[in-house]
Amino acid sequence: MFLNKFIKKIINIFFPPKCLKCKCFIKSYENKTNDCYISLDNFFCTQCLKTGFTVLESPFCIKCAKKFKTYKGDEHLCEECIKDNNKIEKIRAFAMYEGILRDSIHLLKYNGKVQLAHPLGIFLFKTFEKYFSFNHIDIIVPIPLHKKRLLKRGFNQSFLLIKEFTRFWKNTRNCLPLWKIDYKVLIRIKNTKSQTKFNKKQRKKNIKKAFKVRNFNKIKNKHILLVDDIYTTGATVKEAALTLSAAGALSVNVLVLARA
Ligand SMILES: [Zn+2]
Ligand SMILES: [Zn+2]
Repeated sequence: MFLNKFIKKIINIFFPPKCLKCKCFIKSYENKTNDCYISLDNFFCTQCLKTGFTVLESPFCIKCAKKFKTYKGDEHLCEECIKDNNKIEKIRAFAMYEGILRDSIHLLKYNGKVQLAHPLGIFLFKTFEKYFSFNHIDIIVPIPLHKKRLLKRGFNQSFLLIKEFTRFWKNTRNCLPLWKIDYKVLIRIKNTKSQTKFNKKQRKKNIKKAFKVRNFNKIKNKHILLVDDIYTTGATVKEAALTLSAAGALSVNVLVLARA
């Protein structure tokens, strides 16, 4: 471990890392964030890190984690969740979709900066531990991409974010988790257009019947945790939850990195 750090320092002297956003060199003395998780400061300069982001903390809607502006009384449902009857038990997110977190997700997804999956994965794992470690979870399922998009992008960002979950779990607990990661059981059968330019209604229509469960036996009577990178209107995870419930899932919870 010590040797690794030492070698890293030597390499950094000769080949100083560049900020993934503005491409300037990152000086080692800039790395001063002593966050409890590995931070993004190995990847961005101080200037770019300054845009920051807000970690999502209570008060928020007990179901969809929508941030409340004011805190009145006990924890409660937001107006939308009172009306919306979807199949999701609860949604939890690491932080708001903004600042350097938003940049990081963009760089990972659209610029292939897969090295960001590690620090972002740690953020997500901490969120998982905080909200779901006491839940009974059988299977963790990343939101799948259609095979055409997967070929084009080369990776599924949601899977990359949870790839190290088992290792993180073992590191902190010295035992194997009771859940399993399954990235094959749910597939995307419709090559949907990107949701980014659509409004809420269009997103729902675009994603309808986009998913399929490959093996019903693996889903039946199971508690599922769906994972995605961003939650905007929730159209994608709601549709996936509907498909999983129809296949016999006992419960579907959702974990995302960022919430719009
Ligand atoms: Zn920068
Ligand atoms: Zn809500």
